[in-house]
Amino acid sequence: MKIGVPAEIKNHEYRVGMIPASVREYTMRGHQVFVQRGAGEGSAIPDSRYIDAGATILETAEEVWKAADMIVKVKEPLASEYDLMQENQIIYTYFHLAAVPDLASALLEKNVAAVAYETIQLPDGRLPLLEPMSEVAGRMAIQVGARCLEREAGGKGVLLGGIPGVQRANVVILGGGTVGTNAAKMAVGMGANVTILDTNLARLRYLDDVFGNGIQTLHSNAGTVSDKVLEADLVVGAVLIAGAKAPHLVTREHISQMQEGSVVVDVSVDQGGCIATCHPTTHENPTYVVDGVVHYCVANMPGAVARTSTFGLNNTTLRYGLQIAEKGLVRALTEDPNLRLGLNTYQGKTTHEAVAESLELEY
Ligand code: NAD
Repeated sequence: MKIGVPAEIKNHEYRVGMIPASVREYTMRGHQVFVQRGAGEGSAIPDSRYIDAGATILETAEEVWKAADMIVKVKEPLASEYDLMQENQIIYTYFHLAAVPDLASALLEKNVAAVAYETIQLPDGRLPLLEPMSEVAGRMAIQVGARCLEREAGGKGVLLGGIPGVQRANVVILGGGTVGTNAAKMAVGMGANVTILDTNLARLRYLDDVFGNGIQTLHSNAGTVSDKVLEADLVVGAVLIAGAKAPHLVTREHISQMQEGSVVVDVSVDQGGCIATCHPTTHENPTYVVDGVVHYCVANMPGAVARTSTFGLNNTTLRYGLQIAEKGLVRALTEDPNLRLGLNTYQGKTTHEAVAESLELEY
């Protein structure tokens, strides 16, 4: 199969669809990979590494799109890329189609087979191609939270781990899923006093087993959230109710009662946020202050650590991409029901029930 890796063009998107190690996995099986010149630069991967892995470097996006049976990307195609999509081409990337109906129409019109990272799903409901980004965001939440607690950044001037003889910081994590667990790992590692709240008792039992006495687990309800948030130096919002808007667990009133210079990092801001005073911010201007509390609410946190995110993403995208290249799309989808859930459009039809429903299209 001929596989194309164009450079990402979304504003401040520094990731790239394929790393050289992935390229090698394709080329050693006899597939051809075309990479746009400079596509890896944002993730600190020079063209020479792709060439060493057997890729052909092409100068322009047009050439890459034209040469490929399958395009491997990170973000959804933008309007300026619609014309580059080839009839019957396979595009394997994040789509989040419900948010971009124009793109859905373009895919249907061109009979594109859209295989969406975010809807590939395992039998236990997990979304394996979203997990690495949650891992990144969870770990980053503590890194940025620690920075925001510094006086210069508007924080109260507290070191997460304290020092011998001085109080550690209280870190409160709302939601103990992938983001929350990864945040906890970092916070415990830095010596903070960590509490995780979740409504799922099985999850709390798991966290208790894994972290032992290194953390406090608490059942999440209005009372426990209120008590813990008010004594927190750093609150991490990591709640998810699949398919729904995040509930506002931390209210405006809580924020006004928190100590001045405390910090909230709402990772769940991409689902509306679980802290009432949060609104999405960007890496250029990541924080703002409400009632003396520093808010960090960047909706695409992994973008700041593009290299780590690119490598993490490839670890999970490679196996499905290889299946498509090796078997051809139809056989790969037929033999792997998890991958089949990734197919959003095919031959002019929407092929994923929830996506079709949200776009009010025929399924
Ligand atoms: P997850 O499903 O693994 O975990 C969510 C957890 O929240 C679950 O354990 C669930 O039981 C818990 N929960 C639900 N209701 C709760 C409540 N009322 N109180 C406490 N806990 C509750 O999800 P995840 O992968 O950890 O993702 C969390 C959020 O982070 C999602 O909204 C995701 O989209 C977002 N995210 C944001 C970024 C970013 O850059 N900002 C990056 C990755 C993920």
